[in-house]
Amino acid sequence: MSVGVVRETADGERRVALVPKVVASLVGKGVDVIVESGAGIDALIPDSQYVEAGATIGDPYSADVVLRVAPPADDEIAKLRSGQKLIGFLAPRNTDNKIGALKAAGVEAYAVEAIPRISRAQVMDALSSQGNVSGYKSVILAAEESTRFFPMLTTAAGTVKPATVLVLGVGVAGLQALATAKRLGARTTGYDVRPEVAEQVRSVGAQWLDLGIEAAGEGGYARELTDSERAQQQQALEDAIKGFDVVITTALVPGRPAPRLVTAAAVEGMKAGSVVIDLAGETGGNCELTEPGQTVVKHDVTIASPLNLPATMPEHSSELYSKNLLALIELMLGEDGVITPDFDDEVLAAACVTREEASA
Ligand code: NAD
Repeated sequence: MSVGVVRETADGERRVALVPKVVASLVGKGVDVIVESGAGIDALIPDSQYVEAGATIGDPYSADVVLRVAPPADDEIAKLRSGQKLIGFLAPRNTDNKIGALKAAGVEAYAVEAIPRISRAQVMDALSSQGNVSGYKSVILAAEESTRFFPMLTTAAGTVKPATVLVLGVGVAGLQALATAKRLGARTTGYDVRPEVAEQVRSVGAQWLDLGIEAAGEGGYARELTDSERAQQQQALEDAIKGFDVVITTALVPGRPAPRLVTAAAVEGMKAGSVVIDLAGETGGNCELTEPGQTVVKHDVTIASPLNLPATMPEHSSELYSKNLLALIELMLGEDGVITPDFDDEVLAAACVTREEASA
């Protein structure tokens, strides 16, 4: 049984699917690991460390299972063969995803995004591990862009009040953003349309902003708001946002464009020098003035919409992602050391997106 680790080719992608420590675990289980030369280079992991961990440097597409981070490009799909397994982020909900091409090529593809958000699967949950990185880094970026301190400072030259930070959409990334902003000394507030989030928000020392709109959907996700709910929410947020130095938005609805939470008028109402970090840029953004992938200044407010923040912290992002993949592979490994996925297992059945009966 062999697994291959590819060198990522997507623009700006610095992560790698396996780090040497996890390679050593797999080798210890009798799995051959074939790493493409330079696969770890952007995460500052030289080939020599993979060799020390027991891998061979070679063609990852010769392996039984190909591991990657970002979805494959067409020329990479062409290197896969029928019956081969592929595991990675495959963006199954994106309209331009490559699932059809993988199915046509006979590849048994597993999308880490499709792993169910259940307790048993937490260890494999790459959306969560990478969401934590995004949430953390969004606060660091906000602090960098801000013209003000985050913590309260009492100095001989006077006292500085702590920054106020509002996080809109408190899933994994939002919760980590609240916790990180708190650690930096800010006064934090969280808002979401799923009422059960209130307790989690309070558990990281933040206040809960209650706008009276509840929109819990399926599988722990939010549902899209109705037009009237959206108008009510935008108006209420317009009033609330005025009082904050920093707004971090992470609101997503699976398979839908990002909900518009922050209107242009809300930005106009913010104090000069305030900051909006919009983590929903990949699906259009939560702020009306967001330009995905750009940092712009509108009405003296900085609006940044960084894409793929986990790639900017490749060491820890790769380490966490590797551990997610290790757990998934362990779930697939039979006692004979061969990968034999049991599709009666709800995690594997959901993650495999190229079987007829699989739901993407
Ligand atoms: P997500 O990235 O899909 O969305 C981020 C947040 O945006 C969510 O909290 C969502 O409720 C919120 N949101 C959507 N529309 C909104 C709107 N109009 N206004 C305000 N907020 C809005 O979320 P996620 O981080 O992927 O987490 C999704 C769910 O999965 C959560 O319930 C989380 O607790 C759960 N989860 C479970 C496990 C597990 O048990 N294995 C692991 C991770 C996450």
